[in-house]
Amino acid sequence: MVGARYIVPSTCSVLPQACENERVNPWLIAAPATIAAAAGIAAYGATHPCAQLFGRTICRTNSPRKLAITFDDGPNPAVTPKLLDLLDRHNAKATFFLIGKFVRECPDLVKETIARGHAVGNHTETHPNLFRLTRREIRIELRLCHDAISHILGSPPKWFRPPFGMRNPWVIPAARELGYRTVMWTLLPGDWREQPAEWLIQRMQPIADHAQRNLSNAANSATKGTGDILCLHDGAHRKLNGDRSRTLAALEHWLPRWRDLGLEFVTIDQAVSTPAP
Ligand SMILES: [Zn+2]
Repeated sequence: MVGARYIVPSTCSVLPQACENERVNPWLIAAPATIAAAAGIAAYGATHPCAQLFGRTICRTNSPRKLAITFDDGPNPAVTPKLLDLLDRHNAKATFFLIGKFVRECPDLVKETIARGHAVGNHTETHPNLFRLTRREIRIELRLCHDAISHILGSPPKWFRPPFGMRNPWVIPAARELGYRTVMWTLLPGDWREQPAEWLIQRMQPIADHAQRNLSNAANSATKGTGDILCLHDGAHRKLNGDRSRTLAALEHWLPRWRDLGLEFVTIDQAVSTPAP
C-alpha cells in the first residue's frame, strides 16, 4: 500500500535514520534532534554528580576503605549538636557544607564542628540554583559564604558543593578563583523526603553493598579502587532548625554496621590524601 510509505514512525524525532518519509526535509528532523542532544549533554553536565563537563569535581574517595560522609545545609542548632555527638560515639569524621547565612547565625556551632575534627565547606550564602545565575551572581554567592566561614575560623575552607548539585559553565571556575575544589557524591539517598527512617535506611544500603563487594577480597582491600561519598543533610536550606531526625536514626543504624564491614569514616581532606597502606 503506497500510503503506508508516508506514515512517519513515532521514533522519527529521535532516530531520523529510521524514518522512511523521503518527502520530509531531514533538517526539520535532524536540527531539533541535535538541539535535543545538546540540551541532554548540557543537562548531564549541569546535574550528574560525576559529570566533568563544566569543570573537574571530586565524586569518589581514593580507597574502597574510605567512606566520606558529607552533610549539607547546616549549621542547624536543632540537629548538628546531636549529629556531632553521634559521630563522636562512632569515631567518625565527616565534612559539613555550610550555608553562609546560617553560619552568621550560629558561629559557635561552626567552631565546635571544627574542634571535633570535622571539615567544613562552602555551600553558598543563600542556597540558590546556581545554574540560573550569572557569573557575577555566582561569585557573590560564593564570596559571601567564603567570608562568613573565614571570619569565624580564621582561614577559608578548601571545599565547595553547589546547591542541588547544579552547575553551569561559570560555577566551578568561580569556585576555583577562591581556591576551592568542588565536591559531589556517589550516593544521594534523599534524606530530605518525608519518608520513614526505615525507607532512608534502605536507601543507604548501596554503601554496605559496595563495601562487601570491594573489601571482601583481601587483595582488593588496601589501596585499589575508590570509595563512596555519601550526601546527607543536617540542615534544611529554607530555614534554621529543620527536622533531620530520620537522618540521625539512619546513621545510628548504619555507622556500626559500616564499621564492621571495614569502612573508615573520613573527611574530604582525608578522602583525597594518600591512601593508607
Ligand atoms: Zn544544599
